[in-house]
Amino acid sequence: MKQYDFVVIGSGIAGLSFALNAAKHGSVAVMTKRKGADSNTAWAQGGIACVTSDEDSVELHVHDTLEAGAGLCDEAVVRTVITEGPERIGELVDLGLQFDEREVSGHREFDLGKEGGHSKRRVLHVQDVTGKEIEETLLRELSRESHVDLLENHMAVDLITSEKLGFAAENRCLGIYVLDERTGKVETIRSDRIVLATGGCGKVYLYTTNPDIATGDGVAMAWRAGAVIANMEFIQFHPTCLFHAKAKSFLISEAVRGEGGILRNTRGEDFMKRYDPRGSLAPRDIVARAIDAEIKRSGAPCAFLDITQQSPEFIQERFPHIYKTCLRFGIDMTKQPIPVVPAAHYQCGGIKTDVNGATSLPGLYAIGEVGCTGLHGANRLASNSLLEGLVVAHRAGDAMSRNKSISGASRKISLPEWESGDVQDVDELVVIYHNWDEIRRLMWDYVGIVRTNKRLHRASARLRNLQREIHEFYWNFKVSVDLLELRNLATVAALIVDSGLSRKESRGLHFTLDYPEPNDRQFKHNTLLSRG
Ligand SMILES: Cc1cc2nc3c(=O)[nH]c(=O)nc-3n(C[C@H](O)[C@H](O)[C@H](O)COP(=O)(O)OP(=O)(O)OC[C@H]3O[C@@H](n4cnc5c(N)ncnc54)[C@H](O)[C@@H]3O)c2cc1C
Repeated sequence: MKQYDFVVIGSGIAGLSFALNAAKHGSVAVMTKRKGADSNTAWAQGGIACVTSDEDSVELHVHDTLEAGAGLCDEAVVRTVITEGPERIGELVDLGLQFDEREVSGHREFDLGKEGGHSKRRVLHVQDVTGKEIEETLLRELSRESHVDLLENHMAVDLITSEKLGFAAENRCLGIYVLDERTGKVETIRSDRIVLATGGCGKVYLYTTNPDIATGDGVAMAWRAGAVIANMEFIQFHPTCLFHAKAKSFLISEAVRGEGGILRNTRGEDFMKRYDPRGSLAPRDIVARAIDAEIKRSGAPCAFLDITQQSPEFIQERFPHIYKTCLRFGIDMTKQPIPVVPAAHYQCGGIKTDVNGATSLPGLYAIGEVGCTGLHGANRLASNSLLEGLVVAHRAGDAMSRNKSISGASRKISLPEWESGDVQDVDELVVIYHNWDEIRRLMWDYVGIVRTNKRLHRASARLRNLQREIHEFYWNFKVSVDLLELRNLATVAALIVDSGLSRKESRGLHFTLDYPEPNDRQFKHNTLLSRG
């Protein structure tokens, strides 16, 4: 049985940053279900929000974050993450990451981007490929670490807890089962510190900006292990995903609107002014709902993002990746507006943690998008998530190295090997794919940008049936990545629906026609769910 001081699941910004810090304190395994770079992180375009300019301040960034969070942010967490951001950014720069700079009055300074909801320019970026550069920098650094094993194509299946093994007195996480996709074998890994850095759950929706890895595995595993899950109703829909039959999940960064891009309807009207005085730079939830309403009202398939008033040279230099990708699909954004639709983008809720990533289950930590520290509240301010991943990962490493004591009794519990039982190969793949599609479509239709009680109840009933069917599959067939992801998607979908049903008001990203206003008296608190 393999054993490590720290086991990290996931190789995005959170997992890799954590591993680099933890390697100073012991042996580390980073398990990741595809290639190292397959992550949401590598797809991030806009950049990292951080106070680096004299014209900006921690207070202003805190204010903007609290404003976006619609009353549910934890102010102490917001302050910590924003205050510690500059130091963590400095470390990334020390690792060789070169954020874009510009010349101002004879000296160089960061070329800061502006995004919706930010009162100042504060988004550090590397053209429009910030995430890819961060991911490559961290992976390069990790490859130099002798204390870290990076195990690709290793998919975490389930957490091993003392409760599951019949030792209920002190429930804690003891290890994890991991599927080695090359051998098809499930390995048992022991560690006193399991760190989930598995990212979000965009794939639970039919349309998403997220890559295929984003199937909510961390939240589903933590839920099954008995950890507290928070605020899953707050799913951020990005307003501008490229609308093209062949473009799977391609995001048009908010920075395009930050640089003057205007949203237009099929008649060419700048319709956002009708919905919000800030026009196209209103916060994402408002823009996504406005596009949704405009599309539904006109029957048009999409809206349009028009940045043609900027010079072609500026567009090609500031957005080379977006420009080239659009061109590949026959859209020249220097000459014509880009067709766009909203798509599921970011999970504001997740496994409830403190600002050091500690969950309600001893021995289990959650960092990055999979965790819910209280930074985002009911709505995430653009470009705050990479920042959170960096800061919380660092804090988690420091906190764990300070607190090394694990009870002797837990150490003595022996971990059973994975039992396959009476298994067959999955020969009914069609059922898996059918259920997968059904979940994503029903979530899009019934649990999307605008919700109602009736649709949420309908989704809940369907999901219970699907979960029963998937449960049967899980126990009868040999586990595969597709089956495990389907099981996790169904669990996370049900958590989103249950959380949505319990919030009988509209706040932040949760908007329901049955209760269209916020209700502070009854609902100005986090939605907490746990199996126990
Ligand atoms: C298109 C796009 C653009 C974005 N732009 C920005 C931006 O400009 N600024 C910003 O702040 N945020 C942005 N975001 C959000 C941001 O990228 C993510 O919130 C952030 O990268 C999450 O980092 P993470 O480390 O938590 O997870 P991820 O980067 O998603 O990494 C998760 C890792 O976990 C692995 N994993 C998942 N499940 C398992 C399992 N069961 N077993 C093993 N491994 C597993 C995955 O393979 C992956 O390696 C964007 C997101 C997208 C999709």
